[in-house]
Amino acid sequence: MRKMIFCTTALFVFYTTEAQNIQNNPGSNHGNKFEQLGTILPTPNGYRTASGAPGPKYWQQRCDYDIKCSLDETIQKLTGSEKVTYYNNSPDVLTYLWLQLDENEHSTVNNSGYQTSTSVQNGTVNVTTLDKMEEAKTDNGYGDKITKLTDATGKSLKYTINKTMMRIELPMPLKPGAQFIFNIDWNYHVSDRMKYSGRGGYEYFPEDGNYLFTMSQWYPRLCVYSDFQGWQNHQFVGSGEFALTFGNFKVQMTVPADHVVGATGQCQNYQQVLDAKHFARWQQAQTVKEPLQIFTLDEAKAAEKYKSKATKTWIFKADMVRDFAWTSSRKFIWDAMPAYVEGKKVMCMSYYGKEAYGLYSKYSTKLVAHTVKSYSKFTFPFPYPVAQSVEASSGMEYPMICFNNGRTEKDGTYSEATKNGMVGVIIHEVGHNFFPMIVNSDERQWTWMDEGLNTFCQYLTEELYDNKFPSRRGPAYTIVDYMKMPKDQLEPIMTNSENIIQFGPNAYSKPSTALNILRETIMGRELFDYAFKTYAQRWAFKHPTPADLFRTMEDASAEDLDWFWRGWFFGTDACDISIDSVKAFKADVNAETKVTSRGPSEKSIDKPAVPEFDDISKVRNREDKSITFLTDADTAMRDFYWRYDRGLESYDSTYKIKTVPSTVDKIDDSSKQKYTDKYLYEVSFSNKGGLVMPIIVQWTFADGTTQTERIAAQVWRKDEKHVTKVFMKDKEVISIQLDPMKETADIDVSNNTWPKVAAASNFSIYKAKQAVRGQSQGLNPMQKAAQK
Ligand SMILES: [Zn+2]
Repeated sequence: MRKMIFCTTALFVFYTTEAQNIQNNPGSNHGNKFEQLGTILPTPNGYRTASGAPGPKYWQQRCDYDIKCSLDETIQKLTGSEKVTYYNNSPDVLTYLWLQLDENEHSTVNNSGYQTSTSVQNGTVNVTTLDKMEEAKTDNGYGDKITKLTDATGKSLKYTINKTMMRIELPMPLKPGAQFIFNIDWNYHVSDRMKYSGRGGYEYFPEDGNYLFTMSQWYPRLCVYSDFQGWQNHQFVGSGEFALTFGNFKVQMTVPADHVVGATGQCQNYQQVLDAKHFARWQQAQTVKEPLQIFTLDEAKAAEKYKSKATKTWIFKADMVRDFAWTSSRKFIWDAMPAYVEGKKVMCMSYYGKEAYGLYSKYSTKLVAHTVKSYSKFTFPFPYPVAQSVEASSGMEYPMICFNNGRTEKDGTYSEATKNGMVGVIIHEVGHNFFPMIVNSDERQWTWMDEGLNTFCQYLTEELYDNKFPSRRGPAYTIVDYMKMPKDQLEPIMTNSENIIQFGPNAYSKPSTALNILRETIMGRELFDYAFKTYAQRWAFKHPTPADLFRTMEDASAEDLDWFWRGWFFGTDACDISIDSVKAFKADVNAETKVTSRGPSEKSIDKPAVPEFDDISKVRNREDKSITFLTDADTAMRDFYWRYDRGLESYDSTYKIKTVPSTVDKIDDSSKQKYTDKYLYEVSFSNKGGLVMPIIVQWTFADGTTQTERIAAQVWRKDEKHVTKVFMKDKEVISIQLDPMKETADIDVSNNTWPKVAAASNFSIYKAKQAVRGQSQGLNPMQKAAQK
């Protein structure tokens, strides 16, 4: 077991001198971790400035859709025709347009054909795998059938389908500022989402013989044409999501008459599609304080049995959206309640079958309201008139509407884990309204730009929902297992979506953790929140790239973060900072040299008692009196688990550190010199993980108190592997711990404490005593002289 060694010296100035010497001789470990990103980022131009803002020549395309479609429930087929108006706002002359035929993902003929490797596991093969192999031999009938494509005058247009992409050849070059109108008729067989695991399709409920349709990626959609990429027409493989152009939508869906339809945007004809009783409830819901059920559980159960043969047409409109999705089923219970963001009304609504009633009727719509309000605080006021959550057994996001999971047991009960999973997914998917639906990044290229930023805001929102919420992603310590994986199994965050192996940790957890570290540990909340909000506001309703985020965060904060982007986003290094040695010094202004302390006894130098771990964001949220948590009115949504937890709560922020009696001899301070009572500690740190990060030191003093000190990551500038630093303390230190709040995702905490528990002694106290007395190489000649 190592002991803390105390030595005496007359003047501290020599240590300063020594520190200076170290700084002047950086040694051979100076790498490029603090160099500017330079040419790694694209050159700024008139479209995107060096500050990270849209430039004076910024432009983006626009595409408006007018779609009529009808859903045949009996054969699960959707038939549609759309009129598309494409606005060429670019400075370029276009000779063709690219459209996305995402439904071809399910086709055995027109899918991307980028197959992943397969193997026989322990002599067994899943029957579904065999079915799919058999199915792949012939045309399975899925995918888009284009039946007609004409210009505005009805003249046929030439087109070519390349797997999931379709190129339309323009009859005349489309000049800057001009628009082109075309009509396209199509149909496709809706696939079983539970079998083909797509983002849209249907789910069949054998128990009651009904379907729940989630219609997404369902119409031929324009690709993005941009200043930084030209056409984004990379094939839709399944993992990389979407890049889409903003525009206005008018959509008319003809569905079975007893279906309830939810969709992107506002319904234009509730008065026609709802009977008088339900329309009255819809009007009543405009002013309620609690979600009001427009369709009740009993009504949904009755509709499940009746199955109307008639049809109705629902009409929706949505402006400035990048996409349009909808859902349709007679299984739905539908509730609604308004929320207000900066005085503007947002209708928050949920649609769910009886299978989710026990959870969704209590939580869903309130979570929708909480999410739009919380995200609005960290970004910009939610601009759309509605926000909706649909229970559909899995999570996926679209403008103003999202599909989530969270079903109860048959008897209506549920576990805490199921509830928390539902809370997390609803916040996450509703949150996607902000990233990427409004801050419209290219998901096909950069999954992290929407998933990472959204998961970060999800974490902030969960924290404000419930200070004890078990967030899976965001806190630094939750990324440690991923960060410590072998290097050959890791990719940088800046990796194309299709090339990522560990999708969740890479594109969701790591970027959200990185942003949380920036906020709590590197920049502080005030600087971070301002810069992050600046990014969100600069790029709302626009197409940002990674460089626009990196640049804005620095431009708005005066923090040079290139080292952080380099380490966290472009690299795979982990944080592992180690305390290698500690030397303790006590001033002795009297001539006589003496060892004032032998340090604490063996028994007393146990590692400081680690408090039951509590994430730093939670602690700060509680301390910040300006933060208002959910109001009393919202406690209606609290269930047994929440109250149970609260009943036990008795948070004590003072760490219970074992008090150790001081063994330091009292120094005679008759000379009254300023530093007589001070203690000096020279601590050597090494960077074993490669990632440069701040050093957070928690001192535990002999009187049992603690103090935390933060050293900026820039301390590693001159030597990226080793740093030695001298600290002056008023009280005797008995132990040191690095990163006590687990803020840095340090992958090996065994080297974070001093004294190290059960560590073998590398040097004896006897030798050290010699050093103290200036009899070995431990001190430089000046120090030796000073001791005499
Ligand atoms: Zn997501």
